[in-house]
Amino acid sequence: MIETRSPNFDDRPEGIPVDMLVLHYTGMPSAKAALERLCDPAAKVSAHYMIDEDGTVHALVAEDKRAWHAGVACWRGETDVNGRSVGIELVNPGHEFGYRPFPEAQMAALVELAGDILSRHPMPPGNVVGHADVAPARKQDPGELFDWQGLAAAGIGLWPEASVKTKEAPGDAANLLARYGYDISDPAAAVIAFQRHFRPGRIDGAADAETVSLLQALLG
Ligand SMILES: [Zn+2]
Repeated sequence: MIETRSPNFDDRPEGIPVDMLVLHYTGMPSAKAALERLCDPAAKVSAHYMIDEDGTVHALVAEDKRAWHAGVACWRGETDVNGRSVGIELVNPGHEFGYRPFPEAQMAALVELAGDILSRHPMPPGNVVGHADVAPARKQDPGELFDWQGLAAAGIGLWPEASVKTKEAPGDAANLLARYGYDISDPAAAVIAFQRHFRPGRIDGAADAETVSLLQALLG
C-alpha cells in the first residue's frame, strides 16, 4: 500500500453509515495520468484507493472522509453516494482508450482490499456496485470485462445463481431493477448497466426473459 494523498475530499455527512462500495475503472491512457488526475485539486475528483494493474494499491483518501468519485448518482434511493461509500479506482484505459481485461494481480489486490473494507464497514452485498450501476445514463465502468462473478465467489458482492430461463414475457423489468436499487429514470440505460454487471455475455438493453430471471434470482 502506497500513501499517495489526494486533496480532493471533504467530510462525510453525519449520522449516515458507510455501507456501499463503488468500483470504477480509471478510463485514462495510463496509470500515471490517472493518479495525477485523482490528486489534482483542479480536477475535483478522487477515490479512496486506486489499484494498478500490477496490484499496487495507492491510498488516496482516508475512509472516514468523503471522496469524490460517483458524481451525480443514485442507488436504492440514496443520491449522496459519495457520502456513504468507499470508492476504488481500477487502472484500465476503459472503453475510450482501449478497454482490456483486469489482470489477475489487480483482481487479487482488489479482493484483499475489499475484504478489509467490508470488515470495517459491514454492508449488504447488493451495495457492492459499479459506477455504471449508480449512474447508468452516464457511466459504463468498470464494465463487462470486470469479473463480478469471481469477486462474488470471494465473498464480495452478489452473483445470481444460474437461473431457470423463464419463458414468460418480461414486462416488469423496470420495476424489478428499481427494487434492486437502480435509478430507472432512463429505463433502457438501467437495463444496459444491469447487463454489464450481471449478464456480460449479451449487453443489448433488451429486458428479455433471461435478464428478468437474473433479476428475480438476485431479489430472491
Ligand atoms: Zn467511475
